[in-house]
Amino acid sequence: MNKWKKAVLSGTLAAGMVMMPLAIYQTPIKGQAATQAFDNKIVKKIDAEKIYGHVFELSVGIGERAAGTDAEKRAADYIADQYRSYGLDVDIQPFKFQTYKEAEDVSLEINEITGKKFEPHVFGYSPNTPDEGVTSEVVYAGLGTASDFAGKDVTGKIVLIQRGELTFADKAANAAAAGAKAVLIYNNTAGTLKSSIPSSGNYVPTLGLTQEEGVALKTLLDEGQAVTATVKVIGAGIVTKTSHNVIATKKAHTNHDTGQILYVGSHHDSVPGSPGASDNASGVGVNLEIARILSSQQTDTEIRFITFGAEELGLLGSYHYVSTLTAEEAARSVGMFNFDMVGSKNAGDMIMFTVDGKRNVVTNTGASAGMRVFKPLTYGKVGRSDHQPFHERGIQAAAFSYAPLEPEYHQPTDTIDKISKEKMENMAKVVSAGVYQIARKDTPALEWAKPAPKPVEPPFENRPL
Ligand SMILES: [Zn+2]
Repeated sequence: MNKWKKAVLSGTLAAGMVMMPLAIYQTPIKGQAATQAFDNKIVKKIDAEKIYGHVFELSVGIGERAAGTDAEKRAADYIADQYRSYGLDVDIQPFKFQTYKEAEDVSLEINEITGKKFEPHVFGYSPNTPDEGVTSEVVYAGLGTASDFAGKDVTGKIVLIQRGELTFADKAANAAAAGAKAVLIYNNTAGTLKSSIPSSGNYVPTLGLTQEEGVALKTLLDEGQAVTATVKVIGAGIVTKTSHNVIATKKAHTNHDTGQILYVGSHHDSVPGSPGASDNASGVGVNLEIARILSSQQTDTEIRFITFGAEELGLLGSYHYVSTLTAEEAARSVGMFNFDMVGSKNAGDMIMFTVDGKRNVVTNTGASAGMRVFKPLTYGKVGRSDHQPFHERGIQAAAFSYAPLEPEYHQPTDTIDKISKEKMENMAKVVSAGVYQIARKDTPALEWAKPAPKPVEPPFENRPL
């Protein structure tokens, strides 16, 4: 997560929110057998093979599901079909976002060097060159500081700059301000140089070179030779794309409607280049299985099962969804259970993350469900997944996951062979029991008295989800 917008921050609980029956959901101290019986009815229905089947379909059948792609939409359609097959009302909610499209045609030709092929990387958000490219003299400008440009005429020229000391953005901005037509930044270590410049501001086409490529150019310049280059960046730019949330609603029983709304959410997109088996086909699989089981139960609470698009670009789907809730709906919203990365064999123990590191109705419910159907759960403080927009809207929310996170996180190796049916089954047990505890028609009062354990100091503060 790195560039989500800070959206609506209400931060406080909406007035009139019906919280009273929820605060008492804790570990049972009496009536244990009866309590377990109510859970058993739900938990015994969980079918790990069904969850695995969804993960297979999403991560192998569809594969990479980057936001705004056809594959992401196919995933949304698959999920919608599943929800419909459980008899739920389904709405596919589109939303638009802007993203940077990489260049289709990139090249760097050096007139004085013929036997060598340069393989530059265009910096993210770099502007294009004209179609014929930019042809000009190459001028060396050290680290690209303001003083490197002082007294140097680079107007209309291509500037060669070494990596280091300043940010890429500052180097590129200094070169553009000095009148350069294009910027070549070369690495100061082995490997290709791939990065971004800001999406707005005064910039010219900016490319990254390897250290070896940059040194080859600098050597010619040091020898006093004039060097002329042609740089082409064609087809890059900001484009508008569409992603989708899938929302399936289970209404409360007509005669037993508390007016409350609960959310069960998980994102269905993946990062580009990864099939996203654990992140987050696993969360979608668990979400679907809980929807399948609870769809046939009578509840006194409306449950909205949602899968979000474009989470990986900065929680875009969940921010969009939350922005569509009316004040009245937000006030009736009593909790949001989010799943993110709940399936890797290589991840640690089950954990509940809240944005502020504090307990809330969702973690209290999760804690007591954990005690009943699995084991005591730990807590941590992390936002950066789809529970965050709900939290910011004043809706109590938590992300359920496993920590420490798997090493294949956001890699092409986040594949189906790393998936643990057991981890997904345990997650489905805990959350279905927790959700049912709040939503079931015959919600008991005052039989949950023992406080949930205190939040542990979160060891995973900076975990990206
Ligand atoms: Zn994720």
